[in-house]
Amino acid sequence: RDPRTLRDAFLALRRHGDALAIGYRDEHYSHADVWARTARLAHVLRDEFGIAKGDRVGIAMRNYPEFVFVFGAAQLLGAVAVPFNAWLKGPELAELVAEAKPTVLFADRERIQLTRDAGIAAPQLIGVRCAELPDGVTDYAELLGELSPELDAPETAVTPDDVATILFTSGTTGRPKAAVHTHLNHSASLLNKLIRAVPVTEPDDGGPVVVSPPPRSCKLVTFPFFHIAGLNTLYNTLYAGQSLILMYKWDASEAVRLIEAERVTELSGPPYIVQTFLSAARDTGRDLSSLRALGMGGAAAPAHVIEQARAVLGEAVIPRTGYGMTETTSGVVAISAADFARRPASVGRALPTAEIAILDREGKVLGADSEGEVAVRGPQVIQGYEGAESDESFSGGWFRTGDLGRIDADGFVFLVGRIKDIVIRGGENISCSEVEVALGSHPQVHEAAALGAPHPALGEELVAIVHLADGSTVSAEDLRDHTAARLAPFKVPARIAIIHRPLPRTASGKVVKRELAGELNLGWL
Ligand code: ATP
Ligand code: MG
Repeated sequence: RDPRTLRDAFLALRRHGDALAIGYRDEHYSHADVWARTARLAHVLRDEFGIAKGDRVGIAMRNYPEFVFVFGAAQLLGAVAVPFNAWLKGPELAELVAEAKPTVLFADRERIQLTRDAGIAAPQLIGVRCAELPDGVTDYAELLGELSPELDAPETAVTPDDVATILFTSGTTGRPKAAVHTHLNHSASLLNKLIRAVPVTEPDDGGPVVVSPPPRSCKLVTFPFFHIAGLNTLYNTLYAGQSLILMYKWDASEAVRLIEAERVTELSGPPYIVQTFLSAARDTGRDLSSLRALGMGGAAAPAHVIEQARAVLGEAVIPRTGYGMTETTSGVVAISAADFARRPASVGRALPTAEIAILDREGKVLGADSEGEVAVRGPQVIQGYEGAESDESFSGGWFRTGDLGRIDADGFVFLVGRIKDIVIRGGENISCSEVEVALGSHPQVHEAAALGAPHPALGEELVAIVHLADGSTVSAEDLRDHTAARLAPFKVPARIAIIHRPLPRTASGKVVKRELAGELNLGWL
C-alpha cells in the first residue's frame, strides 16, 4: 500500500532488513537497526515521557543519526515533530522554542549549551551525544536499553489530516514562519519522489508497461534535516529502502572522500555547496564513478555549473535543479532534470502532485510568458502558519510564494527574483537578482548580492557586495563596466564593495541580505 502518513512510511522500514540505512563517520545502521531504535524510542516516549498523539517533540540538533530516530519515533506515535534550525544563536532559538512549546526537546551538545546560556525552557530536555549533562537533562544514551528488530510500534491511529510536523521557513525575508504540515502534505511529497524513482518503460508496441526496481541509491546529505529539502530526503530515502550518508557539517574534501568510500550515487544541495564540491573533486584522483546524480535547489543555480560538472565528472552526471519551499512540503515542486542542460535558466516543470501558476496582484491566473507572482496549489501545500489566523499568502486555494516568475508555453518555470527583493531607486524598480546575475557572469566573481542603501534624494540607491576569487585583480570599476555592458544604466550599482570571503548564508543556502547590510554598514550613501 502507498504510504498515506509518515507513520506508514516509518512502519515500512522493517521491509528492508539489512540494507544500509544510515552511515555517519564509522557508524553504520541497517534499516532493521533504524527500526529497532525508532520503535523502541517510540515506546520510551510514550511510557516514560507521556508523549501521545498530537504532542510536540522538539528536535534541535545537527544531522546526527539520532535525528532520524527521534523524528521516526514521533511519527510512529502520531506526535508532531518540530525541528529547530541548528544554526541559530541562543536568543533566536529561545524565541522559536517559546513559540512552538514542545513537550519534550531533544538537543545535541551545542544546543543543550544554548538552552543553558539563553535560559531556554522546555518541560523535558534530552541530551544527545553530550559528554557532560547539566542537571535536569536526561541522557539519550541511557534511554533505549535493549534493542530488538522484532519490536512492534505502539498502537495508535494516525490519519492523513493529522498534523505531522511544524517546520520553520529559512527566514530569508524576515522572521522564520512556522509552517504546519499534515501527513497528507508529506505523503503527497513522498509520492512525487516515488513516481520519479521507479523507472517505468512503456513499450512502443503497446505491450505491458514494465516497472523496474529502482537502482541502488546512496545519498550524501548536505541539506540540514530541519529544512524541508533535508527532511524530504530523510523519509523518501528510507521509505525506498535506500541509504543516507550524513555529515556533521559541510566539508567539500570530506564529501569527496565519502563518495569514494561509501559508493555514493547522489549528492544534492544548494548550488554553492555543489560548486565547492566540484572544485574539491577536480584532480583528486579519487574514484567518483559511483556518482550518478547532482541535484541543486533552494537558490538560483548558475549555468556554468553544467560545464564545471562535465569537466570534473564527465558526461554521465548531468546536474539538475529543483524549486520548492517549506510551505509546499517539498524541496521540489518543480524539477528540471535532463532539461537543465538545455534550459539552465529554468527551474523545471511542475511535479505530478503540484500545480504551479503565475498570478497577477488581484490573484488572476496569467497566461504563458507573463511575469507575476508564482503560486502553488495541490495536496502538498499547507493550510497556513502556526499562530496566524489567516495569512494573505494563502488565497483562492493558492499559496502565493513571494517569488516573481513566468511559465513558458511548455510549462517551464523561470524565476525572476523575490517580490520583496527589489530596490526602488527614485521610483524605478530594480530586481536584485537581475543585477546579481549580471555581476555573477564575470568569471572572477564567486557571488554577488545587490541591495538597497538609503539615499536622501532617490530614497534608495543600488549597491552590491561581491565575493571575488582569491588572487583576482578585478576592481569595482571593472565590475561596473561589466554590468553596464549588460544592463540599463539605472541598474548599475552606484557602489560595489569587494570582499574575499563567502557571503553570509542561511542554513538552506540563501544569502542573508539583512545581515550583509548590517555587517558592511551600508548607511553610507
Ligand atoms: P522565508 O520564507 O522565511 O523568507 P525562505 O523563503 O528562503 O525564507 P524556504 O522555504 O526554505 O524559506 O525557501 C523557499 C524559497 O527559496 C523560495 O520561495 C525561493 O525564493 C527560493 N528557491 C528555492 N528553490 C530555488 C531555485 N531553484 N532557484 C531560485 N530560488 C529558489
Ligand atoms: Mg518563503
